[in-house]
This record gives sequence, structure tokens and C-alpha cells, in this order.
Amino acid sequence: PESHVRSPLGAENGVAAMAACYQRFDPAAYLQYNYTPPRADFERKDSIVPWKLACLHRAFTEGDVSGELLVDIGSGPTLYQVLSGCEVFNKVLLTDFLEVNRQELRGWLQDEGGCSLDWTPFLQHVCKLEGRRPSAWTEKAAKLRQVIMDIVHIDVHCPQPLALDALPSAGADCLVSCFCLESVSPDLAAFTRALGNIGRLLRPGGHLLLIGALGESYYFGGPGVKIPVVPLNEAQVCASLKESGYTLIRLEVYTLPQDMRVGVDDVSGVFFVKAMKE
Ligand code: SAM
Repeated sequence: PESHVRSPLGAENGVAAMAACYQRFDPAAYLQYNYTPPRADFERKDSIVPWKLACLHRAFTEGDVSGELLVDIGSGPTLYQVLSGCEVFNKVLLTDFLEVNRQELRGWLQDEGGCSLDWTPFLQHVCKLEGRRPSAWTEKAAKLRQVIMDIVHIDVHCPQPLALDALPSAGADCLVSCFCLESVSPDLAAFTRALGNIGRLLRPGGHLLLIGALGESYYFGGPGVKIPVVPLNEAQVCASLKESGYTLIRLEVYTLPQDMRVGVDDVSGVFFVKAMKE
């Protein structure tokens, strides 16, 4: 298959075109589109963000995911994806391709105001999932600030996506990645190669928790910033994982209710994968 080829003809062009699209990415707008109601409505069981948080909570509390270091691949300007993992891992590394996103995350880390989004309801919701009182959110925020070791540059299209000294030589114990690979890859082959590239950051036997869009061909990264996405189905996700050296443990699928289709993308569903590196 094409994805076994190291540098297929034209692959560099596709990747460069994607990088160009991201130059106009607007963290505040992206947060507004995807991390406010109806997509982040904690009063609704069928809202997309509570679904993602429940999947992550379950994955991190089943007991098989453990170790020292959790790496979030393509964090963007968001923190929800590490709110469960920060209770299990002593070290969390956040990563993104864009300085504007790393800056947004640093703003939260330094806690000096100026954040584009208030993460309090997210923190409160995950506390509830953990059986804690909602007011424990301040402790969770402190815990997260304590375990985040750094916020660094990543490029999932590079065979070595992080700087050499970013990780211990043994690799990470767990990777989490949400809506990154399919929304930065020009085609399915690039998506599969990116899965293989990030897999090199993970120790054998380590876990991958992957959340992504199904059937999506574009999303808006800001006003007028239309970013192409590789439309994926479940079978393609499973095949790419297998081809990139992962064993699937669980795949869950969420179908977007009609009123969650708010015109910021054409996503039809979301997948959650728990997998292990062979
Ligand atoms: N993880 C966040 C979330 O769940 O909402 C953000 C996902 S956003 C759709 C895609 C992210 O991929 C953006 O933050 C973007 O900066 C980042 N990105 C773009 N090109 C990338 C690349 N080559 N390697 C890694 N990340 C990249």
C-alpha cells in the first residue's frame, strides 16, 4: 500500500499545503466553536464534550493505563483531554505545531488571566466523574498545573515528531491525541504515516487514546479559515492502527445529534480508540 512508501511523490506538497492552512488558525474562535454549548453542554447527556470526557475518564481509570509520562499530541488551545490523565501520570507533556496554541496553554498554566476560555466547568465535570465534589475543581487545576512539565513544538509528519531531548529515551507511557491527525493530514496515507510517527514516541506496551472525527471533510479554524480534513470511517481507523503497529483494545462511536451540527464543520460522528503499541 501507498502508506508503506517513505516519501511518496507529492506527499511533501500535501503536507506543506496543510501547514499553510494552519497559519491563520485562531485559537479563541476555535474554542468558541467547539468548546461552548451546545457542543460543551454539561447539562446534556448527548453533548459531544461530555461524551469525550466520559470516554477518557473510563480509559484512565480501568487500571491498565499507567506509568510516569503522558504526552498529548496536537493539544491545540485545549486542556479537556488531560483532565483525567493528570490524576494518573506524574508528568504530562503538551504539544502543538503552532506557537499561538502553545501561548494560549501557557496563559492558563501561568494563571494570570487572559485565557480565551474558562476551563472551570470542564474541571468540575471531570471531578464529578471521579466521584469528587464539584468544588474539588481547584485542586484538579492545581494538580494539572503541577504535572504539566512543558508545552513544546510537534510535527506529526516528521519521522521524529518531537525534539530529541523532549522525551526520555524509553519513550512515553501513554499518548492521548484528539482531532489532530485527521485534521492535519492531506490524505489517508499521511494519516497512517502520522500514526506510525507518533507511535515512535511511545514505549512498547504503552497505550494510545485517540479521539477523532468521522466523515469530516473540513472544519473552520477561525472566521473564513476552512481547513480540509481526511474523511475517515471506522474501518479505515482500525486498518490504519493495525498498519502502524497498534493493537486495538476498544473503539467507541458517537453520532452527532442534528442540533450539534452548528456549521463550524461537517463532522458526522466521533470515534474514541483505546489501543496498545505492539
Ligand atoms: N487537540 C485539540 C482538540 O481536541 O480540540 C486541537 C485539535 S485541532 C482540530 C488540530 C491541531 O493540530 C491544531 O492545534 C493544530 O495547530 C495542530 N497541528 C497542525 N499541524 C500539525 C502538525 N503537523 N503536527 C502536529 N499538530 C499539528
